[in-house]
Amino acid sequence: EGSDRSEEQVSGAKVIAQALKTQDVEYMFGVVGIPVTEIALAAQELGIKYIGMRNEQAACYAASAVGYLTGRPGVCLVVSGPGLIHALGGMANANMNCWPLIVIGGSSERNQEAMGAFQEFPQAVRSSIYGRPGACYIDIPADFVTLQANVTSIKYKECCMPPPVSMAETSAVCAAASVLRDAKQPLLIIGKGAAYSHAEDSIRKLVEQCSLPFLPTPMGKGVVPDNHPNCVGAARSRALQSADVIVLFGARLNWILHFGLPPRYQADVKFIQIDICAEELGNNVRPSVILLGDINAVSKQELASQKSLPMNYYTVFYHVQEQLPQDSFIVSEGANTMDIGRTMLQNCLPRHRLDAGSFGTMGVGLGFAIAAALVAKDRSPGQRVICVEGDSAFGFSGMEVETICRYNLPIILLVVNNNGIYQGFDADTWEKMLHFQEAATTVPPMCLLPNSHYEQVMTTFGGKGYFVRTPEELQHSLRQALQDTSKPCLLNIMIEPQSTRKAQDFHWLTRSNM
Ligand code: ADP
Ligand code: MG
Repeated sequence: EGSDRSEEQVSGAKVIAQALKTQDVEYMFGVVGIPVTEIALAAQELGIKYIGMRNEQAACYAASAVGYLTGRPGVCLVVSGPGLIHALGGMANANMNCWPLIVIGGSSERNQEAMGAFQEFPQAVRSSIYGRPGACYIDIPADFVTLQANVTSIKYKECCMPPPVSMAETSAVCAAASVLRDAKQPLLIIGKGAAYSHAEDSIRKLVEQCSLPFLPTPMGKGVVPDNHPNCVGAARSRALQSADVIVLFGARLNWILHFGLPPRYQADVKFIQIDICAEELGNNVRPSVILLGDINAVSKQELASQKSLPMNYYTVFYHVQEQLPQDSFIVSEGANTMDIGRTMLQNCLPRHRLDAGSFGTMGVGLGFAIAAALVAKDRSPGQRVICVEGDSAFGFSGMEVETICRYNLPIILLVVNNNGIYQGFDADTWEKMLHFQEAATTVPPMCLLPNSHYEQVMTTFGGKGYFVRTPEELQHSLRQALQDTSKPCLLNIMIEPQSTRKAQDFHWLTRSNM
């Protein structure tokens, strides 16, 4: 509005509050006193939720729990001396739990006029949530709180970025998969690191697709529900004692897990340890495989490296991504096929992804692929069109394969086939079901005919077709398809028809040992 703000003054307290707000701090717990009261008031004014507690220790516990629950640090505001000392319990607890936390203490006056220490906030937020989460302390001199500074002299640093996500080495993931595959009595231990990293979906998939029993630590409970059939919580001691391979997902081999030592464990048990903190790896026992990285990312890597048959979505997309030329057009539709494919297949160019779109329309894929192939031919020769279809999605416009063949468009169609919409049945179950049903019209509506040979739709019109059951067949046929630009082709990729498998009977865990 043209008004000159150069004379406007702002208090140190307000600057601190604004700096916190800018870092997306949402909650502040504390016990006020000189000189931090003004900080609490200023924070409230900016919409930071301030909760006045009765002791700094409880305030600090609360702030760290907020950090664990939200992934952004809660702030604990304390006065100097005794206030800070009371907060130490909470800081130690946060550090031990690996939970993010920022403690702000107001100390005594300093004979210093300059402002400009507010760089500390982005740094504190970053170090509380990057790498292994933990506690940070910022000491605010009393005169900083009360001092008046020129508004225009203050610059707030923008909110720090979310913590980077790191994956484990591919070779380590393969080693882990092979140790796990050879296990007779494998066990996953799910800790609070898994909870903090929001790995619930990927760990659940790993549990179900590999039929692995799991044991949550106290705060790892609920990542996969306790009432899940693969949970062996009720037979904890027995599970620990009998396992020959144990995968640790963000759980330390500390007292809670009996240090990983006999007699609670077999002397030659193999540990696969996954943690975001390198210093944690190898504590107390020498693991067979160590995976340094974010649990959510690493458990997806593990799913992808799974060699059991039939394949799962992650295995399929992992191998597709490996060979996919970077400049490809990716057309995709389906339910899981499109959703999981979106997270695993990468686009490097704009306007090179076409999918079910805003309206969520199924049946668009083949038309889109034809359009992309024509545009590629005219404008960017050499770029491939990969059309990734669920088996149900493919059905909506499957006859356009004839069009593709008529114009000889070198489209690669991948039909990710789980015999149904969302999920289907394997051939045996299907046969049994038909046998017991009075009429075929009573079978589950999401089923499609098992083992349909969609690749023959392509061969019928002169293109190339592949029936794919294993990762090796997938690698091989995709390589051929990419090399041969003379013909369209279709890979009919068979995957596990049930996203959730029947519960395995963990015969080695007898219920009498509960
Ligand atoms: P619990 O008490 O459930 O066994 P711990 O606190 O002992 O859990 O272990 C949690 C582990 O999780 C810590 O070693 C920590 O470094 C790790 N961790 C925290 N966040 C992540 C993450 N995003 N990815 C991988 N490991 C993590
Ligand atoms: Mg399907």
